[in-house]
Amino acid sequence: MNKFERAELDHVLEKAFAFHGKPCGGTVIGVRMAMLGLKMIGISDPKGAQRKDIMAVAENDRCSVDALQHVTGCRVAARALKLKDYGKVAATFVNLKSGKAVRIVCPEETRQTVEQYKPAEGEKKERTIEGYKRIPLNELFYAQEVTVEFDEDDMPGHAKARVKCDNCGEWVSDHRELEVDGKLLCHHCNQGGYYQVVSDRIAVPG
Ligand SMILES: [Zn+2]
Ligand SMILES: [Zn+2]
Repeated sequence: MNKFERAELDHVLEKAFAFHGKPCGGTVIGVRMAMLGLKMIGISDPKGAQRKDIMAVAENDRCSVDALQHVTGCRVAARALKLKDYGKVAATFVNLKSGKAVRIVCPEETRQTVEQYKPAEGEKKERTIEGYKRIPLNELFYAQEVTVEFDEDDMPGHAKARVKCDNCGEWVSDHRELEVDGKLLCHHCNQGGYYQVVSDRIAVPG
């Protein structure tokens, strides 16, 4: 990395750390992963002219997701950032215009490789952050060219469909319902979910 690239990285990192709430190695990995990913799919202006041309898929829900969001401008709420929590330090970057998609992975061996790039002196966390800044991209990551087919119901834009669950009466967007024995059921009513109702229609402060 030349001094201009290093200055650019430091500049982006300063803002990414602020967004994340603290400096950490995971954010450095995420920022470098996102900058590389965008470059490899031909995106140079992710928050300007090309902002609608990108989608990203993160494979964990940790520090690097904040970094991906900060660098790519892709947000979950805009449906441009998807979370597939595979528990991997990896993400895929898709250029919706050209169709080019690259998956970037930070492999386990990097934990060893990075050691030689850490400064000898200093506090542990600072050494880690500096090590992940210095390690060359081709030692930090490997990349795969991939294809990604997003479902029409997962794309940015307004919900195209809304139906009422025949069991609980709550409304479901984007075909997230399931048809069972002629009934339209929400995910929870069909196969349970992350919550169990203890008491229904409890008092809501007015
Ligand atoms: Zn962190
Ligand atoms: Zn329901």
